[in-house]
Amino acid sequence: MIDTLELAGIPPQDEALRPAIRSFLEETVGGLAPEIRARSWMGFDAAFSRALADRGWLGLTLPVEYGGAGKGPFARFVLAEELLGAGAPVSAHWIADRQSGPLILKYGTEAQKRFYLPRICRAEAFFCIGMSEPGSGSDLASIRTRATRTDGGWVLNGSKIWTTNAQRSHYMIALARTSGEPADRHKGLSQVVVDLSLPGVTVRPIRDVAGDAHFSEVFFDNVVLAPEALIGDEGQGWAQVNAELAFERSGPERVYSSMVLLEGWLAHCRALGAGGARQAAPLGRILASLAVLRAMSIAVTAKLARGENPALEATLVKDLGTEAEQMIPRIIGDILAASPEVPMPASLGRTLAYLEQMAPSFSLRGGTREILRGILARGLGLR
Ligand SMILES: Cc1cc2nc3c(=O)[nH]c(=O)nc-3n(C[C@H](O)[C@H](O)[C@H](O)COP(=O)(O)OP(=O)(O)OC[C@H]3O[C@@H](n4cnc5c(N)ncnc54)[C@H](O)[C@@H]3O)c2cc1C
Repeated sequence: MIDTLELAGIPPQDEALRPAIRSFLEETVGGLAPEIRARSWMGFDAAFSRALADRGWLGLTLPVEYGGAGKGPFARFVLAEELLGAGAPVSAHWIADRQSGPLILKYGTEAQKRFYLPRICRAEAFFCIGMSEPGSGSDLASIRTRATRTDGGWVLNGSKIWTTNAQRSHYMIALARTSGEPADRHKGLSQVVVDLSLPGVTVRPIRDVAGDAHFSEVFFDNVVLAPEALIGDEGQGWAQVNAELAFERSGPERVYSSMVLLEGWLAHCRALGAGGARQAAPLGRILASLAVLRAMSIAVTAKLARGENPALEATLVKDLGTEAEQMIPRIIGDILAASPEVPMPASLGRTLAYLEQMAPSFSLRGGTREILRGILARGLGLR
């Protein structure tokens, strides 16, 4: 498996996007407090997403005929790397741009593509992912939300939980049972797009340990959906969701969640003029790990660019990437705590506190560490 992850480089035409993105970010995000920038893909700012859209940077990989830029995965890699490195508030458009748009492109009807994709590219349609339910997270095939076919379309009943941005999105792509029983597992599941303003949809935000409310519980009480709410084929929801999870896991975002903290801590070390082993050795460890992960993430992007399916390699990068994201606040926190007499900027303390609180979630969202390792074991023929 590992020998399929070959070292690759970013093509010059994609690398050439970087300076314009960087100067745009300097203008728009450069002045934000680090503890705000540390939220990055949890930071919701519709105006920022529209500003990106105005520059043609949403739907980079979607075809031009649907409002996209028609570029390849390396362009998206460069953009994502710059956005996350700067701590830009990308949450409003992130899910639509990363996975709902590509999912609709792959499985949607022509009418669905013409309706949703241009709106995604203009930052007018924000999406959320309705997979997890109370009692069905890792064991996704056991979901109970049901879409029942009627003469006029579908009626949706059930609930979802931990739905990022449900309270601020226009649409959810929900996994629902359209035939059979939960015991039928992968069979009989389908994906439907739900307009979250419809009667019968109730969205209740959940506050996390850091005090933010970025995800919600969502309840469906006899929500009437049109026939064209179905995405792809009825009963193919499991295969489609797995394709969607491959879009979700194959970007560089599982490596960069702690970059704003790292940058703040480096600035603090430089300001102190502090050399010596206490900082240098752990910093070397962090950089070594980030350099390898970046090379692996570029190699995954190269597989995408060749039209190959990097689902297994992306799983590997996500597992290792989230470990690095969790290691950074742990190491920096330990070093700062070992010298309580040295004053540090209040914003560095707040950024560290935020990341220390959030770090456990890095290896939960998008599939837990144990689930990813099970997928890797299967890839090695061990299960
Ligand atoms: C910040 C954040 C954002 C999220 N956003 C979304 C979203 O937008 N949409 C969405 O649908 N979901 C979202 N989720 C939910 C996320 O996908 C689930 O939390 C995750 O899949 C785990 O499911 P669970 O919480 O039900 O935990 P469980 O599945 O109950 O797992 C609990 C623990 O048991 C372990 N475990 C479970 N099964 C096994 C097994 N077979 N072998 C070994 N260990 C196992 C798990 O690894 C975990 O440590 C989000 C979660 C977080 C933290």
